[in-house]
Amino acid sequence: MSLNIDNVKCSGCGLCLRACPFGALLLESREGQGLPESKYRKIAIVTEACTLCGACLETCKFDAMQIEKIQGGGTPHKEQYQGVWVFAEQRDGAIQGVVYELLTKGRALADQRGTHLAAVLLGHQQQEHCAALFAYGADKVYLVDHPALAQFNSDTYTDILTGLINKHKPEIVLTGGTSIGRTFIPRVAIRVNTGLTADCTGLEMDEKENILLQTRPAFGGNIMATIICPNHRPQMATVRHKVFKQGAPAAGRPGEIIAEPAGIRAVKARVLEVVHAMGQQVNLAEADIIVSGGRGLGGPENFALIAELAGELGGAVGASRAAVDAGWMPSFHQVGQTGKTVCPKLYIACGISGSIQHLAGMSSSEVIVAINKDPAAPIFDVADYGIVGDLFAVVPELIKALKNR
Ligand SMILES: Cc1cc2nc3c(=O)[nH]c(=O)nc-3n(C[C@H](O)[C@H](O)[C@H](O)COP(=O)(O)OP(=O)(O)OC[C@H]3O[C@@H](n4cnc5c(N)ncnc54)[C@H](O)[C@@H]3O)c2cc1C
Repeated sequence: MSLNIDNVKCSGCGLCLRACPFGALLLESREGQGLPESKYRKIAIVTEACTLCGACLETCKFDAMQIEKIQGGGTPHKEQYQGVWVFAEQRDGAIQGVVYELLTKGRALADQRGTHLAAVLLGHQQQEHCAALFAYGADKVYLVDHPALAQFNSDTYTDILTGLINKHKPEIVLTGGTSIGRTFIPRVAIRVNTGLTADCTGLEMDEKENILLQTRPAFGGNIMATIICPNHRPQMATVRHKVFKQGAPAAGRPGEIIAEPAGIRAVKARVLEVVHAMGQQVNLAEADIIVSGGRGLGGPENFALIAELAGELGGAVGASRAAVDAGWMPSFHQVGQTGKTVCPKLYIACGISGSIQHLAGMSSSEVIVAINKDPAAPIFDVADYGIVGDLFAVVPELIKALKNR
């Protein structure tokens, strides 16, 4: 890829210079170049500092700038792309749990590929997290520190990660399928001219072809598709929290911190204030015990029974999409393909049939208990313990037994 500037269209207005986070554009005199008269008498030129981040394209009012992509042939010099990267997402200064899960997976992929594992950490005064990133397997941390990075900004994050990828050329980039990851990673993939597989449930290395096999549900979750990105680099994927298991940290494991410039440009959106979500938000993804209810409950009032059982066990309340769509429970309780992915020690499904979309969000729970009056319900295929019966009889018995402990 290369950034081309059309000398005839360029008016020399200089807007692109202000937009470039890397100071990679200059204005040069038009005189003697046989170009049309312009009130600015200058044209923009690209220097070697250009990382092809694309920030200038959006500002050019004269359609004079283009990143030329190699059509059909994929990324040139693919062999130069090396290493596995994990985007180390921090929120309010806390590294998100999915990062450690991705580092654990990334370490295994890097070892299989015989390459290094790096984390990319954007933020302000976040260096203290590097030790933990090394402990979970990173060999290097690319650290970008700037006050403007204290809060997430899609434009800024996109520019910086694009610039880093173009500069260091990683072979694989993994990001959490969080709201932050989902917001900016597709923009990065477009800018670096590669593909992106969202919400993967499996990542393996094809050691013969040296290609990342990215598996995810497709067609409404009815099949599992394995997607490859054979011609473009990096290979990029997002993975939701709790899909992969977090390994044990190796305290004191050494690593290299590589400080990178932030190159912040004037952004279109500014964060004025951060207001945390109010109300009864449950953190299902972190719960050790979840009791979930489905359509079998028959109405919203019966979720009180589920809440009572969850309360006795010290767990959280989950719900199937049928229960959420019926308006019986708020959407943040939903477990499944379009809800939360959970991996508790104990998952109790009450009046839930076990559709493939529900299983996609909870089947990796350590112990699954299913209560359903239909002995042929698919939930029993994944359950460790199945109780065939009316939940309105079974659940009160369980609550009674727990109260009598
Ligand atoms: C693209 C897509 C994404 C989706 N994403 C999700 C998702 O994220 N999460 C999700 O859950 N679903 C999702 N769904 C919906 C999914 O296909 C199912 O429709 C849904 O999971 C069914 O919910 P349910 O099991 O509660 O209801 P049902 O399938 O109607 O099952 C109710 C069960 O309750 C049992 N029952 C009834 N009465 C009693 C009783 N008194 N005692 C004991 N058992 C009883 C019945 O035998 C039955 O098995 C998605 C669908 C699509 C197409």
